[in-house]
Amino acid sequence: ERTTVVVVGAGPAGLTVAGLLLRLGIPCTVLERRPRSRVEQRQRAGIVEHRAVRMFEEWGLAERVVGGFPYDGVLEVRVDGESRLLDETGLAERLEARLCPQQVLVQRLIAACLEDGGDLRFEAAEVTLHGVTGEQPVVRYRDADGVAHEIACDLVAGCDGDHGVSRASIPDGVLTAYPFDHGIAWLTVLADAAPPRHPLLAVSRHGFAAHFARGPRASRFYLQVPLGDGPDDWPEDRVRQQLRARLGSDDGPPPGTVTEKEVFRLRSVVHEPMSHGRLHLVGDAAHIISPMGGKGMNLALYEAEVFARAVRDLVRDGDDAGLRSYSAVCLQRAWNYQEFSRWMTEMLHDAGDDTRTGPFRRRLARARLDRLSTSRASAGAFAELMAGLA
Ligand code: FAD
Repeated sequence: ERTTVVVVGAGPAGLTVAGLLLRLGIPCTVLERRPRSRVEQRQRAGIVEHRAVRMFEEWGLAERVVGGFPYDGVLEVRVDGESRLLDETGLAERLEARLCPQQVLVQRLIAACLEDGGDLRFEAAEVTLHGVTGEQPVVRYRDADGVAHEIACDLVAGCDGDHGVSRASIPDGVLTAYPFDHGIAWLTVLADAAPPRHPLLAVSRHGFAAHFARGPRASRFYLQVPLGDGPDDWPEDRVRQQLRARLGSDDGPPPGTVTEKEVFRLRSVVHEPMSHGRLHLVGDAAHIISPMGGKGMNLALYEAEVFARAVRDLVRDGDDAGLRSYSAVCLQRAWNYQEFSRWMTEMLHDAGDDTRTGPFRRRLARARLDRLSTSRASAGAFAELMAGLA
């Protein structure tokens, strides 16, 4: 078998690469380890940023992929229970971000790829990459019946996330990892509870909390918790009581509605460079961004487009400049988003409970936060980053 691009992984990154290549008429095959039903149920991100909505519009995919989701360019920050709205102040363009749960985006991307004649292969086990530094890479895998397959290709898009085979198949010493531990843990709670009016972030002495929509009747809550706590330290009553204290309202999950509860540590990492021969890493395969600021999935969508355009230049014009600069272009945005996420993480945690970083840092963080409401330039810079325009 032969194709132009083998895409490993059918998350937001891989499916967007495939969707855009299909629009260009460039052959590609997507190999995904999990069954379709599993991929379509993984709940994670919830906001498609303005830039990404515009991107889907330019490629004629917006209606099918993000159509019908509510528009929201407003973020609510509640400081000690008092509400502040951060919106597009200072931006000329109207923002078009969409509240679209990641699993729905994935379902729709799969449907769009299949409608456009895409070759998506689920339950592809034991994917291995060969000869990516040569002229003709080969990708091998086993299908659900255990039958071995081999696909020759020009390029491999490694879109298989942080634990995938793509990055792992690059020899030691080629990549440099830049990891960072934020020293913060969050409890995340999914519930069949009414979503907030706007994405809501809360700062108070009790610690950080947040409430996001994950569908018309579903919500995701986040609560900063002491390092070392596990989900069992947080029974539903304690979650509700703490959300009431931190959000200053009764917007917590009603009893019996919690569907998932997990604790995770905020961490970030970037692996450089993002290309190795004819293998190009896209999305979480190359970096993880802490969830604050909602940039992980959006960065994956951005890189998918940079890659698709570079492949177009190669296939149509024999021009490989786009692929040669792929890593540098993507890393610039990756570090920009990392900085935004870290800046926001620090501000919204330091401004609350000061037992972690002390009273001086708390006052600095509050000054930063206040500036977003008192300075048009600060508010504009923030909105630009939220929108993905900077
Ligand atoms: P993934 O979504 O991880 O997809 C990788 C795919 O590759 C998977 O389908 C996997 O099954 C497949 N795969 C793995 N290994 C192999 C293999 N060996 N062979 C074949 N296939 C393989 N981002 C935001 O923008 N906003 C948010 O609010 C946000 N919140 C988040 C909350 C949580 C709890 C988590 C965990 C993440 C959040 N993120 C958020 C990050 C976002 O979910 C990721 O950045 C996004 O999923 C990246 O997409 P991806 O396609 O690169 O990787």
